[in-house]
Amino acid sequence: MTDPAPATTVQDRPRRPALSPSRAGDFKQCPLLYRFRAIDRLPEAPTKAQVRGTVVHSVLERLFALPAAERDADRARELLEPAWEELSGDQPELAGLFDGPQDPELARWLDSGRALLDSYFQLEDPSRFEPESCELRVEAELDSGVLLRGFIDRVDVAPTGEIRLVDYKTGAAPREIGEAKALFQMKFYALVLWRTRGTVPHRLQLMYLRDGQSLAYAPDEAELRRFERTLDAIWQAILRAGRTGDFRPNPGKLCNWCDHQAHCPAFGGTPPPYPGWPEPDPAPESTPDRTD
Ligand code: SF4
Repeated sequence: MTDPAPATTVQDRPRRPALSPSRAGDFKQCPLLYRFRAIDRLPEAPTKAQVRGTVVHSVLERLFALPAAERDADRARELLEPAWEELSGDQPELAGLFDGPQDPELARWLDSGRALLDSYFQLEDPSRFEPESCELRVEAELDSGVLLRGFIDRVDVAPTGEIRLVDYKTGAAPREIGEAKALFQMKFYALVLWRTRGTVPHRLQLMYLRDGQSLAYAPDEAELRRFERTLDAIWQAILRAGRTGDFRPNPGKLCNWCDHQAHCPAFGGTPPPYPGWPEPDPAPESTPDRTD
């Protein structure tokens, strides 16, 4: 597999508007949702399931920082509560999800996080390999000038040089909805890796910790080229809408999970006045975006 064109990494450039998989997915799903999240930046209350996902991701990252021989299920379970305490210490608003440390719901929630970690160990044995990186921030510019930015849960590189991208899924969204979104996200990262390293990842792997299932997918160059054109078209459409503020609602099944019905004309609401295209950047991916 060869590098299709000179890759451009942009780590050291001044920050400028970029496309993340979550925000691209928002725009595809509903342009008005994109506006509310990326431009108006309307607050969204994180759900317990999202926060649990953040904590579980953090535990898996910490697990891989340990010597390989220590990476077992008991150690992972031990890491969960400290990871929650650290997160809720950094973001005190999260403590409000529970009625104090004695809330029985908190104990049940922590148990459900431990169950996700147990499920992870059904999928692979983390003591048998060393990932190249965890929570890797990636950024690449396409030939068209579109800047892609995001975080990859884990990158594994085999001694033969083959690259595997791994994404942990902990969310409660229905599988058929989540899967299309997850594959979109993985192709996004595969494209960024290809453009920055000159190698198409050999395998994209989604690990569904709720049901202990794994989905593997092998991208190819032709598909990533098509995907690149799709991202380019999405970004051009975002910029066009951004100039005029014409972000239209696109009601669908996912409205049930949307926090913004009160501002949405499809539900009788009124959007706030359009604040204009944000400088220097529309909102990047949030932690819940990355762990949902
Ligand atoms: S409620 Fe539905 S149509 Fe309205 S902004 Fe949210 S996702 Fe879009």
